[in-house]
Order: sequence, then structure tokens, then C-alpha cells
Amino acid sequence: MLRLKSYLAGTWKDGEGEGATLLDPSTEEAVATTSTTGLDFAEAFEHAREVGGPKLRAMTFAERGAVIKAMSKALYEAREELIDASILNGGNTRGDAKFDIDGATGTLAYYASLGKKLGDTRVLVEGEGEQLTQSARFYGYHAKLPRPGVAVHVNAFNFPAWGLAEKAAVALLAGMPVISKPATATALTAFRIMEVLVEADVLPEGALQLVSGSAGDLLSHLGPQDVLAFTGSADTGTHLRSLDNVIGRSVRVNVEADSLNAAVLGADVEPGSETWNRFVRDVCLEVTQKTGQKCTAIRRVFVPKERMDAVQEALIESMSAVVWGDPRADGVRVGPLASKQQLDDVKAGVAKLTSGGATQVWQSDADPVGSEGKGFFFPPTLLRADDPRAAAVVHEHEVFGPVTTLMPYESDAEAGELVALGHGGLVASLYSDDRDAIASHIQALAPWNGRLLVASKKVVDQATAPGLVLPSCIHGGPGRAGGGEELGGLRGLDFYLQRTAVQGDRGLLERALGMR
Ligand code: NAP
Repeated sequence: MLRLKSYLAGTWKDGEGEGATLLDPSTEEAVATTSTTGLDFAEAFEHAREVGGPKLRAMTFAERGAVIKAMSKALYEAREELIDASILNGGNTRGDAKFDIDGATGTLAYYASLGKKLGDTRVLVEGEGEQLTQSARFYGYHAKLPRPGVAVHVNAFNFPAWGLAEKAAVALLAGMPVISKPATATALTAFRIMEVLVEADVLPEGALQLVSGSAGDLLSHLGPQDVLAFTGSADTGTHLRSLDNVIGRSVRVNVEADSLNAAVLGADVEPGSETWNRFVRDVCLEVTQKTGQKCTAIRRVFVPKERMDAVQEALIESMSAVVWGDPRADGVRVGPLASKQQLDDVKAGVAKLTSGGATQVWQSDADPVGSEGKGFFFPPTLLRADDPRAAAVVHEHEVFGPVTTLMPYESDAEAGELVALGHGGLVASLYSDDRDAIASHIQALAPWNGRLLVASKKVVDQATAPGLVLPSCIHGGPGRAGGGEELGGLRGLDFYLQRTAVQGDRGLLERALGMR
């Protein structure tokens, strides 16, 4: 059986013992094992700090961009093989696998082009600078330089390729070396990515290391110049940001966590209109794509009270058309959940929602196509809660599967209040053509969400789906969503750069900071 090793300190290393077994979620057959027991993470940190960091910091943004471009190219060339790994160990359909892999190469390509635009410089200077006293000579600039530490990335199971690449692209462009840890259950794709990058020899030594499995004592090595970017459940995020050394050494932490993302159908939208159809299409896509295992999936659907039945009918019609089963079978668009744990959690989550005020109004009664009684399959499911305030659990508990809950609102103001009951989300989407209503919804929804998609008639055919994270727009959200912020073009680099107020002779500073 395939054995996943970790790539640390410039070489492949195997842990002790058998370790964890990775499965094919469609058949429950074992596909690989991996262990990180006994691996020397102190050595990995030292390698990043002593070798990778200095090499990256010696490069200009344009040179780092060229490295990232080469990474994107190497992964693109291995696309088919990575898609196969994602189907095998993630239970992804081919479409879902492409979403992850192409998201990875696309984000790398985007940051490569940003590096090219930043050009032959190593320092970013913020704004115009300021005269600090009466002397026109004494000036202050805010300069941003890469931290001479290590960027540790801990990723969730659902996007092993994109998760690795989107974080690595930003850190490497900023000039920080990376130690990346995928979730163990679906680590095969990340392992293959690392193999491809090592084989292609596109990375400066020490720039990227991979931990193929459990974190062990990895995070105990974080120090004051290091950063930790985490994606996963809110519980793990809370645990990691409260580690003694993380608090004691003021380690910078970014958390991308759970989110009860909302879709709001405007009161002006008539059934059958273009905006209505786009709304139905988006909800169906976001519930079923990646089997609902997307941090940006729509979990709560708010519609005007008088539209509840019509929306329910339209969603059932749309969701009924989606075939679920083994991703290798013809026509299947919804695969299994990624693990037995996920399946158990989704079953328990639906029970929690239905005992907390929601009613199950539809669930696919088809058998999963191509499955032979094995696999972690869960049918697409629609719930409804007619009293959204009484159904508190719907706003608190994320069911990480193909499940969403339909709820009514009575006024635009109430729609905003109900969305806010989710305590902070990654994304909300609004479907409306009413200018005034759109303005007031934006006021209410934006502070509670990291991203807001407004779908109206003139963009129904052009807008991206709400669940699609774009490298040019920030990803992350307040409150429950973790309070983090990733990507967003150059904004993403700030996490890896130290902003320092540099004061002195204006001419000297401008020369030293590469402004002239
Ligand atoms: P998880 O159980 O919290 O695990 C996430 C990662 O943390 C995994 O790599 C896991 O490693 C690691 N981990 C767990 N305990 C750790 C510890 N004590 N020390 C160091 N690392 C530790 O989450 P998940 O089940 O993989 O992901 C599902 C959740 O992620 C969902 O709630 C979803 O909403 C959220 N998510 C959020 C985003 C976003 O961008 N906001 C994106 C995707 C997913 P092991 O696998 O080795 O245990």
C-alpha cells in the first residue's frame, strides 16, 4: 500500500509505526497509510528559518512570483493525476476535484502575476509617508518587510490542493517559508502536490515543507516571528489560538473556521424571473457541490414569508435532478462525504437541527448510484424552519454536508437580523433588483460577512457563484467564521509582513526603502 512521507528539511521522511490509514470514501478501501510519529519538527523549523527564509528574502517580488508561476505550471501539468488522487482519497466527483485542483493552480497563477507587477523590489511601502515635525526633512514611512520566521499552515480536509496552494502562494510571495500540514484523512492529494513540486525542482530549498499527517508537537515550535494560518473547525481554531506559546510569544494567527452562510431572496423577486432562477441555481449548486463540504456553502436560505412554498418547490425540483453516488459512475454530481467521521457528524447534525425547530421537507430517496453498500454517502436534504428565531440551533450548528435550511422573513430589516444570528459568516448572497432594498441589505449584511455577492438581473449570467473564493477578493469573516482574512490580492500579504514605522531623513529613507 502507498505510504505517505513528509517532506522536511530537504528530504522525504517517514514516521514511526503504521499510523493513520487513508480511505477511498466511496468504497471504504484503504489507499495509503501515513505517520508523523518521531519526526523532528524542530529541525524543520530550523531549516525554514536558516535556509528557506534567507533564500526567499534575497529574492525580489518578481523573482518570487516566477517561482510561484513555476509551481502553478508544474501542478497544471500533473492535473489529471491530481484529479485522480482527489477522486480516490476525497470522494470527489471529477467536477469537484477540478474545483479544488484548478482553484490551486489558478490562485498560484494570480499571485505569480502580482509578483511580476510588484517587480524588482523587496519592500512594500504603505501610502505617501508623512512629515513628522516642522522640518520637511524628518519623515515617516510605513514599510512592510517579510518576517524572518516560518509560516505554518494547517488545512481542512475538504480542499487539500487549494488550501495548500492559496496559503503558500501568499506566504511565498511575501517572502516567508512555509510548513504546510493537510488534514490527515485526505492528505493524498497534498502529498502528490509536494511530490510534483519536488520532482519539478521549482522551489528554493527550504521554501516549502509538508507534514503528511498528525501535527504532533509541530505548533510548540512557533515563535515570535512565525505565523500560523489555520483552516478548520471553530473548536480546533480556538484550541490553537490559545496554545501557551502562541499567546506568550504573540504568534500571529489567522483562523478560517465554520460559517453558516446565508442566501437572501429579495422581496421584489418574482418566481420565474431571471434573478429568481439564478437564486434557485445557486442554492442548489452550493448545497450539492463538494457534497456540501464547502466552508462557503449556503447553509441558511432566507426568503419572504409568502414565497416559502414556491421556493421550497423550486429547490426540491432542482435538487431532485442531481444524481448522487460513486463519483466514478456516469452522471454522478454528488459524491460521498470524505470520511466516516464526516458521515456520523452530518447524521447527528441533521438530527440536531430537526430536534431544534427545523423540519425535514425533502431528502433524496434514490440509492447512491454505483455504490455496493459501502461508502460514506448521505443524500441531499432540504430542511425548513418556519419560526427562525425559535430554531436557534439552525443559526449555531454547521452541518458540513449536502444540507440546507429554508426560513422566512417578514421585512428587509428582519432578514438582516436573521442573518446576524449566525454570528459572522464567510459569505452571504443577496438576490434582488430593487436598488433601495439592495442598499439597505448591504448596510445590514456587510458587517457580518467577509464577502457579499449581490446577484441582480444584469449580472445573473456573469456573476460567479457565492461559494467561489477568488484570489482578488478577501476570504474570511468575522465572529464564528474565525475573524480571519486571507487572499484579497495584496491585502493577503500583510499577514506575513511586519509593518514598521520607519522615521528619519526623507531622502535617505526613500533610497533605503527602494522608492527612488
Ligand atoms: P478540523 O478537525 O478542525 O481539522 C482541521 C485541521 O486541523 C486538520 O489539518 C487537523 O489535522 C488539524 N488539527 C486538529 N487538531 C489539531 C491540533 N490539536 N493541533 C494541530 N492541528 C490540529 O476541521 P476539518 O474537519 O478538517 O474541517 C472541517 C471544518 O473546517 C468545517 O467546520 C469547515 O467549515 C471548516 N472549513 C473552513 C474553511 C474556511 O476557509 N473558513 C475552509 C474549509 C473548511 P488532522 O486531520 O491530522 O487531525
